[in-house]
Amino acid sequence: MKKVLSEKETHSLMKTLTEEQRHFISNYIVQCKKLKWLDVLSRSKTDFTYKNANTPTVNIETNEWTLKTIIDGGYRKRPFKCDCGASLRHQYIVYNNKEEKEYKFGSTCFEEHTNLDAQIVKDIKRGFYLIDIELDEILIKYKKRELFNVSSFLHLKDDPVAADLIKQAKLNIPLSTKQIDELRKAEFHYKHNKNKQEAYKGLNELQITLIEKLPLKEQVELVKDLIRKEFHYEDLPDTVDSAEIQLFVKLGLPLLNRHRIRFNTIEFFSQTEQVTSEAATENKQLSFKEANEITYDVFMKRHLHILKKVRENQDRISSDNEKIWLNIQNNIKEFRDGKEFNHSAFKGDINHILKHLDLGLENMYG
Ligand SMILES: [Zn+2]
Repeated sequence: MKKVLSEKETHSLMKTLTEEQRHFISNYIVQCKKLKWLDVLSRSKTDFTYKNANTPTVNIETNEWTLKTIIDGGYRKRPFKCDCGASLRHQYIVYNNKEEKEYKFGSTCFEEHTNLDAQIVKDIKRGFYLIDIELDEILIKYKKRELFNVSSFLHLKDDPVAADLIKQAKLNIPLSTKQIDELRKAEFHYKHNKNKQEAYKGLNELQITLIEKLPLKEQVELVKDLIRKEFHYEDLPDTVDSAEIQLFVKLGLPLLNRHRIRFNTIEFFSQTEQVTSEAATENKQLSFKEANEITYDVFMKRHLHILKKVRENQDRISSDNEKIWLNIQNNIKEFRDGKEFNHSAFKGDINHILKHLDLGLENMYG
């Protein structure tokens, strides 16, 4: 990623902002850099802890260096000094917690004056660079008047991150792509929490604990099903060997996609296998008309081996494609129960899954 604007261009665009806007955005950039600093240092601390996992007495230097702030002397000015004597435009004020002493460094030489690891310094500099690019993006959008409409996000004002973004938009400062993503993420969490409040009414502690332990994606899925009262028990076979599925049923919780994908196929294919072998002997001679108005049995006779192949590999199906596979199975089941079946949709979907699984069978339905 290359820096879009030169220092001069950034400076002249900054000059077009009002005092209030400039102050807000400069403050945002400094906050981002402080967070980045903290983030990189705490991550490196984790690595350090891990490496020394066998030495229980190891004393970890928790955040020895804290970035207090960064001050900007202004374009083409170098009013500040680094501790080594160099003149600076940007001065990093860093506090050493161990020595209880404040240091003032330049961005290019804080590496030499601190005991920070070279990789950490590299990560920090990289992070700061990306934040500078984000500022450029905001400034370019400002020039083009590309403002982001936050009117549908105003209910998020209790979320501290969203509140700052709303404030920024209200000051007529555009939002960066990263900020828009953050706002959408805040909206997603808001909705999920609201759904949870509704869904958890009447649930006991055990049920809630189990739900809260699920990964977010499955939590969202389950909470939605709880509200819609869709438990998916109708698909349950007589015997289930998965302890987790048994627990979900026992607790009266909706089954997850990954549960249904299991028993749906296993039970379903073992049932139809008998039917199709019977059908195979009966339907040896098919007239042209019959072949066009294909019956469920004939369909299964033709496609069972492919469906079984997919079933054998279904653990590899990505979460994006899980729905398609589930949908295929549901449609086939409905076909068995006498409902209409869309063959071309089936071909498209199964081809997609085969390609995705790379089973070398995709030409089957080409
Ligand atoms: Zn220096």
